Amino acid sequence: MDTKITLNESEMPTQWYNIIPDLPEPPPPVLHPGTHEPIGPADLAPLFPMALIMQEVSQDSYIDIPDEVLDVYRLWRPSPLFRAHRLEKALDTPARIYYKYEGVSPAGSHKPNTSVPQAFYNAQEGVKKLTTETGAGQWGSALAFACAIFGLGCEVWQVSASYDLKPYRKIMMETWGATVHPSPSDLTASGRAILEADPNSPGSLGIAISEAVEVAAQDPDTKYALGSVLNHVLMHQTIIGEEALKQLAKVGESPDLLVGCTGGGSNFGGLSFPFIREKMKGNMDPTIRCVEPAACPSLTKGEYRYDFGDTAGMTPLVKMHTLGHDFVPDPIHAGGLRYHGMAPLVSHIYELGLVEAEAIHQKECFDAGVLFARTEGILPAPEPTHAIAAAVREAERCKETGEEKVILTALCGHGHFDLRSYEAYLAGELVDYDYPEEKVAAAMERVPVIAG
Ligand SMILES: *Cc1c(COP(=O)(O)O)cnc(C)c1O
Repeated sequence: MDTKITLNESEMPTQWYNIIPDLPEPPPPVLHPGTHEPIGPADLAPLFPMALIMQEVSQDSYIDIPDEVLDVYRLWRPSPLFRAHRLEKALDTPARIYYKYEGVSPAGSHKPNTSVPQAFYNAQEGVKKLTTETGAGQWGSALAFACAIFGLGCEVWQVSASYDLKPYRKIMMETWGATVHPSPSDLTASGRAILEADPNSPGSLGIAISEAVEVAAQDPDTKYALGSVLNHVLMHQTIIGEEALKQLAKVGESPDLLVGCTGGGSNFGGLSFPFIREKMKGNMDPTIRCVEPAACPSLTKGEYRYDFGDTAGMTPLVKMHTLGHDFVPDPIHAGGLRYHGMAPLVSHIYELGLVEAEAIHQKECFDAGVLFARTEGILPAPEPTHAIAAAVREAERCKETGEEKVILTALCGHGHFDLRSYEAYLAGELVDYDYPEEKVAAAMERVPVIAG
């Protein structure tokens, strides 16, 4: 009856898993924003180092993690897998709940699993500075940390609403040496265009991406880093699932249900892809479920079609579940889940029927998050409370049916910088939002129509 299932450093996986070659159908191509023709590696070269572009389009099932990256991973990896005995007891459920805890990283979330290799490959190719966007501040701090380790400059556009609400994330980024701007800013053409239309714009991830991409595209020594959505990002995160497979094997368990919160899809992909591989091989048969906010339901209410990754329409067109690239979210507290699209790879796997999705309102998520804190001790970030809420729903179903299901989730970050959200919850001030179908339909009229 272990509580904490650990691995030795020597048991840490030394390869990332690329699910693409194992899928029954390849994902649709990425298209040029102007010509609508499939793009090649050279089209991405102004923004990303070649090593990451080659990973983005790789057909190899496994990619070796460089020694320099493994060295940094060892600061917090392998991360622990916990059995949630006290949560189970509070729910009086026969289900067994496990959570893989990624809050042990320096930035407090799973994001350094990809910021570290991204900074490493950029430094290796002589890049001097990285630009990026951040919503809740988790990705910005993960990249600031990685840039400090590999001696790169780091410039971050933080969504204005969270820049004002989460000052400590900004100080953390600055401590690691990054420069932080609220977005929209007057430093870029895309930011100025938004401010002209609405001087009080709260910003969005899509707008902040436009600003960071614009600056990187104009400077040959600067490249851009994205914290989610792209194939190589999801691949870097698979170390979570590879470790979890080993840890569950140690205690002789196999999951019946795997739940993960989905913003852009990276912690979910990172946990689930190695399990989907085992499922496709016939070694296990878990149900695998994405959980998203009812206020930002890209999988459950968005359309599966080509759209831009940013608001200004500068990025390539990717086929994904989208709410439309000019989506401006309601002010829910799970800032990291407020992106208009879903990773093309997660969208594709959802279309193939390999995973399911459900949307949950934030009050139910915080109910589950507070119950989790009061039983397991860890105060979760608002994002993974979505996955915890889904696990609680399932555990309660098991109580009705008497099923002893094994539930696995990723507790992908702690909430120590999200205490304003808990303050609002405890004061009874949280409001539930539903994203209306009409708004999705209206936004689709501004999404490009791609023939075929
Ligand atoms: C960024 C972030 C998310 C959302 O991003 P995904 O790519 O969907 O994982 C979720 N949880 C935490 C803690 C985050 O930092």
